[in-house]
Amino acid sequence: DIEKDQNIIKLANNFTITGVIGGIKPFGSGHINDTYRICNADKNEPDFLLQRINHHIFKDVGALTDNILYVTNHIKNKLRLIPGADIDKQVLTLIKTGNNLFYHKDENGNYWRMYRFMQNTKSYDVVTTTRQAYQGGLAFGNFQTMLEDVDASKLTEIIPDFHNILFRLKQFEQAMSEDKFNRVKDVKPEILFINQHADGMAEIERMGKAGQLPLRVTHNDTKFNNVLLDENDVAQCVIDLDTIMPGYTAFDFGDAVRTIINRAPEDEADLEKIQLNMPLFKAFAEGFLSQTVQYMGAAEIRSLVKGVLLLPYMIGVRFLTDYLNGDVYYKVKFAGHNLQRARAQFQLVKKLEENYAELYAIVMQTVNDNKSSNGTEDL
Ligand code: ADP
Ligand code: MG
Ligand code: MG
Repeated sequence: DIEKDQNIIKLANNFTITGVIGGIKPFGSGHINDTYRICNADKNEPDFLLQRINHHIFKDVGALTDNILYVTNHIKNKLRLIPGADIDKQVLTLIKTGNNLFYHKDENGNYWRMYRFMQNTKSYDVVTTTRQAYQGGLAFGNFQTMLEDVDASKLTEIIPDFHNILFRLKQFEQAMSEDKFNRVKDVKPEILFINQHADGMAEIERMGKAGQLPLRVTHNDTKFNNVLLDENDVAQCVIDLDTIMPGYTAFDFGDAVRTIINRAPEDEADLEKIQLNMPLFKAFAEGFLSQTVQYMGAAEIRSLVKGVLLLPYMIGVRFLTDYLNGDVYYKVKFAGHNLQRARAQFQLVKKLEENYAELYAIVMQTVNDNKSSNGTEDL
């Protein structure tokens, strides 16, 4: 509607955009932020992307923005040293407001930001080819590598304990003991599954605390649709930088694999349909490791496969916790939706466990192929 469009144009004009606004379109399939494409009437100038930041989830928009600036500037400085790199294409660029800030707060208390629009790119919700999976691995691996020398303490932990399974299990236990909706009695097998796995799933946290895994800067939302690919399906840029914060590489590897290896939806009701697609896993691992293997140690490499099990387990724990709490965090489409989601994730964990040796062998084979092509010795 026209009034809404006028409002979006007004909001866009708070930013220091070049050219002339020619039109606006709601954009993308993200679940967290509202996104609009601001089209430029001046064909020599770029389009822009206006996003309303979800400040219910991201409560400290200032710190969030500082994290994004820190990371994107770091990557830009590195790209400047690479001959032929195209900075505008390979990393997101935040646009300033007229007040020299990188976000704008409107009269309703909403926060907005603007990025340069990446022309002629696409993002996929579902991976269909090994080529795409490989490119996704390349993109997230390269992103990790660009940030390898960042001191993680420079960034704010924007959602504390986001991927800390000990914290998620504590929330789950709290929900169980409160049992506000008398649902515990219906989920005994799921509770058993969670408890039987809890100790093993805490290994990454334990290793991290013991100094056996490096704390890095991780993306923490490595869904495949957070990579932009160009018209030839070649990875161009990693996007959706809201959850960048200190973390372990296994989180990014594990969450990406979660969305790539199983082509059934996150809430699949028919557990028979949850199957592993090993060629897609292998392709992703090859892309990721080709970028990261040079600096990862043996413990960190081994942690990657643990992350592949941990991430679906963790999201399953969170779905079941929300089910017990009466569905207050995740939007549900029907009664029992969160329970169905949890079951699907636990089924995926079971499949991954059954195939652990093969997943591990694929990673190790890829590591050794990369090491020998780099002229270094085997692990
Ligand atoms: P969400 O947190 O809601 O997933 P994203 O930042 O991922 O938000 O943006 C939503 C969608 O908008 C992305 O999946 C992508 O298709 C598109 N998008 C995001 N940033 C850009 C950009 N700079 N250029 C072009 N498209 C983009
Ligand atoms: Mg996204
Ligand atoms: Mg996001």
